[in-house]
Amino acid sequence: VTERLKDPSLYRTDSFIDGQWVGGEGGVDVLNPANNEVIATIGDVGEAGARQAVAAATRAFETWKKVSPFQRAALLMKWHQLILENTQDLASLITLEMGKVNKEAQGEVAYGASFVEWSAEEAKRVHGETLSTPFPGSRGWTIRQPIGVVGCITPWNFPVAMITRKCAPALAAGCTMVIKPAPETPLSALALAELAKRAGIPDGVFNVVCGDAPSIGGVLTSSSDVRMVGFTGSTAVGKLLMSQAASTVKRVALELGGNAPFIVMDDADIEKAADGVIASKFRVSGQTCVSANRIIAQPAIADQLVAALEARVSKLKAGDGFDAETTVGPLIHMKAVARVDQLVSQARDAGARIVTGGKPLIEELGGSFYAPTLIDGGDPAMDVSCSEIFGPVASIYRAETEADIIKMANDTPFGLAAYIYTQDVGRVHRLTEGIEYGMIGVNAPMVGAASTPFGGVKESGIGREGGKWGVEEFTELKYVLLGGV
Ligand code: ADP
Repeated sequence: VTERLKDPSLYRTDSFIDGQWVGGEGGVDVLNPANNEVIATIGDVGEAGARQAVAAATRAFETWKKVSPFQRAALLMKWHQLILENTQDLASLITLEMGKVNKEAQGEVAYGASFVEWSAEEAKRVHGETLSTPFPGSRGWTIRQPIGVVGCITPWNFPVAMITRKCAPALAAGCTMVIKPAPETPLSALALAELAKRAGIPDGVFNVVCGDAPSIGGVLTSSSDVRMVGFTGSTAVGKLLMSQAASTVKRVALELGGNAPFIVMDDADIEKAADGVIASKFRVSGQTCVSANRIIAQPAIADQLVAALEARVSKLKAGDGFDAETTVGPLIHMKAVARVDQLVSQARDAGARIVTGGKPLIEELGGSFYAPTLIDGGDPAMDVSCSEIFGPVASIYRAETEADIIKMANDTPFGLAAYIYTQDVGRVHRLTEGIEYGMIGVNAPMVGAASTPFGGVKESGIGREGGKWGVEEFTELKYVLLGGV
């Protein structure tokens, strides 16, 4: 790993608690999914380490909350600058531990850094309001205060951005953090901790604990010192954490699974729609919660869309994320390859047509690879339609009327991201109002940005990350009434 880094001291394998590097017991191997070789072994600090981190964050909160927002902003801007200066090393760590194409990894670092910059700016704009009151001789106002210690549990698909998207607004608001990164991708999280330390973020404000998920998650969700839990990951684990957090009535912010419809109407620019599907579906090998999961086309243009997609998908090149020609990296691990293959096999057995791809490329490419795949003629009842694919598999469905399209789009417990391609402004309004999703891209395959609210409805989650909403999530609203004025 260190050979790939300009600054080898960014390669950290211990947890980061109260400003110190802390080793753990045993060890969980981190694999490079492009060749399944071990690139690090990370000790487990377990429940004790999590408690130590919560205690440190609780102590640090007492001073961090009183630091002027301008000073917090300045420290975050320093962290932002260090993240950008180390873009290549962070991107290398991302590609090494989760496989994404290195250019995409660089994009992730820029995206992740943008949340730090935005949050630093927002730190200065956390205001209360003055209120009218019905009581004679009184004045009322609100103040916004940091909620306290925040526990956050993050996934492997955006090892840098999933952390900055939660931590930067929390730190801006004056909260302190205990982060449990995904076991697949601890290296990016620990490198971010090293950079936070260099930026001068005080000890105990930003802690990263690695180890057994249920033990650490148990501490973060049950400790009365932790006031909020932020989680991005599967709906099943999100439900578990939410139920665990109920015992102390913690605030939860959950960003869970999706099942994004990608709707292509018959008036759409088909070439642009096909480009959009490729960007939305095959970025990060389809392993994002906002990846198009069901491509719903009106019958009049469906065959044309399939042809446009076939031309593009057959040109995608699976391979090592460091290879300049690679456009689709590996999946996170071999289990993911087996799961995606099962979904495709079921679709094939159910009579769908595999237009291109449809098989693992493990032997051919020597890692956790799956061929970029296009499926046509699928039935919406198939597993490939009902579950989140999380792989490079695009599947086309047909629906004729707007009512049927809305019904099909909403026929899922999820409601994170959706995409609509049409030139008709009336359709834009009817469809965006009719579908139940937290984020909708119209003629746009990617919607995320530091300035906008990211989050879902239904079983896709609670709360929003990004924009002014992202910082507000980490504050409590306090109301004061002054009488006898
Ligand atoms: P995925 O299947 O994509 O890995 P998960 O929801 O299992 O999604 O994982 C997301 C994050 O949740 C990871 O950091 C993982 O370690 C953590 N996690 C998984 N199970 C638990 C649990 N029981 N308690 C706390 N955290 C958990």
